Amino acid sequence: MLIAAGVFLFLVVPPRPARLDTSGWAELSARTVSGAYHIHTTRSDGIGDKAAVAAAAGRAGLKFVILTDHGDGTRPPDPPAYLEGVLVLDGVEISTDEGHYVALDMPRAPYPLGGAAEAVVEDVARLGGFGIAAHPDSPKAALRWTNDRAPVDGIEWLNADSEWRSASRRQQVRAGLAYFLRPGPALATLLDRPAALDRWDRRAAVRPVVALAGADAHGGVGQRAEDTSRSLSGMIGIPSYEASFRAFSNRVILDRPLAGNPVDDARAVLGAIRKGSVFTAIDALAGPALLDFRVEGGLTRAGMGGAFPGDSDATLTARALLPRGAELVLRHSGQEIGRTTNGELRRSLNDAQGVYRVEVSLPDAPGVPPVPWIVSNPIYVGLSSAAPGASLARPAPAPSGGIAPFPWRIEKDASSGGILRTSDHQVSLEYKLGEGPRNSQFVALATDLQHPSFGALELSLAGDRPLRVSVQVRRADGGRWGRSFYVDPAGTSLRIPLSTLRPIGGAALAAVSPTDVTSILLVVDLANATPGGSGTLRVLASALVR
Ligand SMILES: [Zn+2]
Ligand SMILES: [Zn+2]
Repeated sequence: MLIAAGVFLFLVVPPRPARLDTSGWAELSARTVSGAYHIHTTRSDGIGDKAAVAAAAGRAGLKFVILTDHGDGTRPPDPPAYLEGVLVLDGVEISTDEGHYVALDMPRAPYPLGGAAEAVVEDVARLGGFGIAAHPDSPKAALRWTNDRAPVDGIEWLNADSEWRSASRRQQVRAGLAYFLRPGPALATLLDRPAALDRWDRRAAVRPVVALAGADAHGGVGQRAEDTSRSLSGMIGIPSYEASFRAFSNRVILDRPLAGNPVDDARAVLGAIRKGSVFTAIDALAGPALLDFRVEGGLTRAGMGGAFPGDSDATLTARALLPRGAELVLRHSGQEIGRTTNGELRRSLNDAQGVYRVEVSLPDAPGVPPVPWIVSNPIYVGLSSAAPGASLARPAPAPSGGIAPFPWRIEKDASSGGILRTSDHQVSLEYKLGEGPRNSQFVALATDLQHPSFGALELSLAGDRPLRVSVQVRRADGGRWGRSFYVDPAGTSLRIPLSTLRPIGGAALAAVSPTDVTSILLVVDLANATPGGSGTLRVLASALVR
């Protein structure tokens, strides 16, 4: 019986992570700082508070954690702090119409962020935050990031929750049994090489995108605001934060080691993430992971995440501390172009260009195809070096005539109120959304059209505070198309081609034909305001143009 149990455990339980000798790597090792990103606490649907998360991270050997509780950005983020010796950073995971978007390093938003993915991406960028498309591979459609157009700053190439959901029942049972003996490695047996890696490669070819690994740690079954089918085992507290943190981590490479001051250290860690000086390691397989990846030529040098001009001769160097049997793999625009087992790869780049990144593969890594042990961020050679997060919407030119101005009136739900004032061809709407529970409260400025022929709307709008307003057109049968726009207190001029408006309300409407439009609406609703919210929206100018 004991022998049978022993054989069973031998077959089921994955080995301990291989320990690597870091002698000779002291300098890089001191600047390589590991942490967990994408963590939920009791503030949303996790089961532990900040102190519990920090303590678990400390036990797992991590130096920082990035909390990402669900929210709309209107809660001020907690200032960075050291708890239990671990740097705790506070972010937010925002729900959009096209999946979840994590914002880091962002001040409090002036209105609730939500609605179309592109609107949220734009808002996070304007507020100075760093935004990451969460779990793009999630088997659960409501969670999955599906937008491939919006200029996101980062993407989760790996997400533990997606990996567990897509593992087979057999894998899940084995991992569940092994969990009680070796939690971190047991969770890692559910990983494989995710499709999100290819999606990332395609996006990074267009503009820099930083890849991170999302723990999506909840500490096991929590309040489950989002979904009740997530748990590995259905048991409270499994997988624990500590087990999640022992499975894999993000390792930022800093200019100097952390100093112990939370504000300075937060700036260093977030600065490294922003510039892509970060790689992922599956710590449950081997560790500690160390990676030196750079391109040098003449007086120029680019580290991981950086850009290198393409017009000069340059040498690419990748060095990693390798476990037995491991291979260092160089990829160019997603395709493998070289591999070695000796821990160092050099290549001269004669006017070559493209996106270069490295992976380290291990012979016994889990998954079909197997998950890479290390995934670097790229070095962009000979491409535009537009920094992630720099893509703000361009202001449109001021309205240039056309059919002007509309006679506006108010539409609203029964619980909300609005007062319309007109002076000097300017219209101002004082709105107050109904209090109480969310019940589709809205206040809108509306105007009616008769057989119009126009290609675009020109609007000059202002608010008494930063607002996001949905500009919509409506057909006689009630079908609506629209898009939301940021409105600045100092005024925002918009030119909105009709063809850029999207169907509203899930109806499978074709593109809108201008002659069908019977009304234009400027809507303040719960997508970007709260029940009871009030303010003033001013229309400085409005016109229909060809
Ligand atoms: Zn999520
Ligand atoms: Zn999450």
